[in-house]
Amino acid sequence: MSEESKRVGEIFKALASGVTWMETQGLPVHCPADGEIIAHLALDDKQSLADKVNRAAAAQRVLGSQKREERAALVEKLSAEIKGSREWLGELITLEAGKTPKEALAEADGASDILLKTIKDASLAEFGGMLRCKERPPVGIVGLITSFNFPLVVANWTIAPALLAGNGVVWKPSEKTPLVALAYKAVFDGAMGGVKDLLQLVIGGREVGEALVSHEAIDMISATGSVQMGQGIKAALARKKNNNVKPILELGGNNGIIISEKMSADHLEWALHSLLNSFLGTTGQRCTNTRRLIVQRGMMDKVVAILQKHIEAFLASAEMQNPLFEIVRLRQGFGETSRHSAFSATADGYGPLIDADAYQRFERAKKRALEEGGKILFGERLLAAEHPNAYYVEPALAVMPAQTAVMHEETFAPLLFIAPYNTLDEAIALLNAPANAGLTNGIYTQSQAEADRFASANQAGHGLINSAKGTGTPAFGMGFGGNKESGTGEILNAADPLKPFTRDDHYRRIAQNKDIAMDWE
Ligand code: NAD
Repeated sequence: MSEESKRVGEIFKALASGVTWMETQGLPVHCPADGEIIAHLALDDKQSLADKVNRAAAAQRVLGSQKREERAALVEKLSAEIKGSREWLGELITLEAGKTPKEALAEADGASDILLKTIKDASLAEFGGMLRCKERPPVGIVGLITSFNFPLVVANWTIAPALLAGNGVVWKPSEKTPLVALAYKAVFDGAMGGVKDLLQLVIGGREVGEALVSHEAIDMISATGSVQMGQGIKAALARKKNNNVKPILELGGNNGIIISEKMSADHLEWALHSLLNSFLGTTGQRCTNTRRLIVQRGMMDKVVAILQKHIEAFLASAEMQNPLFEIVRLRQGFGETSRHSAFSATADGYGPLIDADAYQRFERAKKRALEEGGKILFGERLLAAEHPNAYYVEPALAVMPAQTAVMHEETFAPLLFIAPYNTLDEAIALLNAPANAGLTNGIYTQSQAEADRFASANQAGHGLINSAKGTGTPAFGMGFGGNKESGTGEILNAADPLKPFTRDDHYRRIAQNKDIAMDWE
């Protein structure tokens, strides 16, 4: 057992017995379900970062000299180990990120699946009796920075192709979810067997992230976070000498949907129900949540009334009630995996906000909406007496007279703005107006002409027409990545997943006749 695994084992034993794991007075880790500190972790500094980069570089030289098939076997093993650890990884995601157990398990499964999918997507099919492969050398060491809201799966979007391409990875997880990263590293090290040190973790906040980006031995950066984080990273890279490889930046969005009048009453009902999950999912803390509805003026009252009806039903439902209590219960019994059978498993992801900052942003955005002439429906704080340091809120609707300034910002909370339009051209202009509206936009209409007009004018990375899930889920099989302020490049579902993690200038295409007997010595 590695030192890292032993350490993780000790941390979990402490958490399971309800004790705070205290390594130092370093980084405090909170449980969003009750706001309590559950661990303190030692912070990395420039010296420990440099040591870890060196260790990853030594390991990368071993991996880089392996054949793709050998690396694929490691990636497959990692996928199986994550699958085998899904329950406790899921519990940890709930404990540390506040996700409902159902959503947390889905994230653990997604992290396992993406590894296998990357192997499949990176391989070329047989062609005319020839085995084909594309070979490009790895870039070297990938610096990975991740956000709190998908503490496991987003890391694997990068780790899967980076590893398969032969790179080492130095990962700085969100300072809000370092325990999931520590657990992942223990699983990862177990799967890698003899190839040690390929993944290094650095613990800390923005300063540690900045030090990672600026480190001269880091060959490329893959980072997921806010637009501000992306801008900081771009500026730091511009100052760097070794800055040959384009970064991948998956950043914040401000996703909007046009609600046209050109649909039947049934279609409208279906549309508003379909987008609900992408408004409520992960308590509004997904990059793809629907944040703005641009509604044909004559339909405003009807749309608001239908949404109100849905929110009232949601607030009264088991979907809303159970996760709150189940998450708190999980906190009190961490480590007893058999409890999973007791979960109602009907909720799709509505728990507490991550922390007090997130709650303050929610409150500020509601206040600004009022100041800018809007009306707020719902949005009250819940369970404040029982859990004064945890932040459960009702979802909120902000009915606006027009698309005002507050609608140009990403609140990252369950707040849906609703503003009117007169003509489709005006609606499209409003949809595209925020600089951060570069991830996913959509339209609900039964007019093909409107759908075509939207498709040709939409400026976001994804355009979804009559989606069954609002803007909430990137269309399967299409590369996911942001335009405008929302990002550069794509990793999830990319057509050529290894490309960003390899050096283009040494591209080799190899085709070998599979019918010729070869010597294997
Ligand atoms: P955040 O920007 O606060 O932090 C993200 C990570 O970046 C953290 O690890 C943080 O320590 C680090 N960081 C912050 N500033 C940095 C800097 N200047 N240099 C280096 N590292 C820095 O984001 P968050 O609150 O954790 O996550 C929410 C944001 O992430 C939202 O804006 C959301 O839309 C976005 N997001 C985007 C995607 C996507 O695929 N586009 C996916 C998930 C989340």
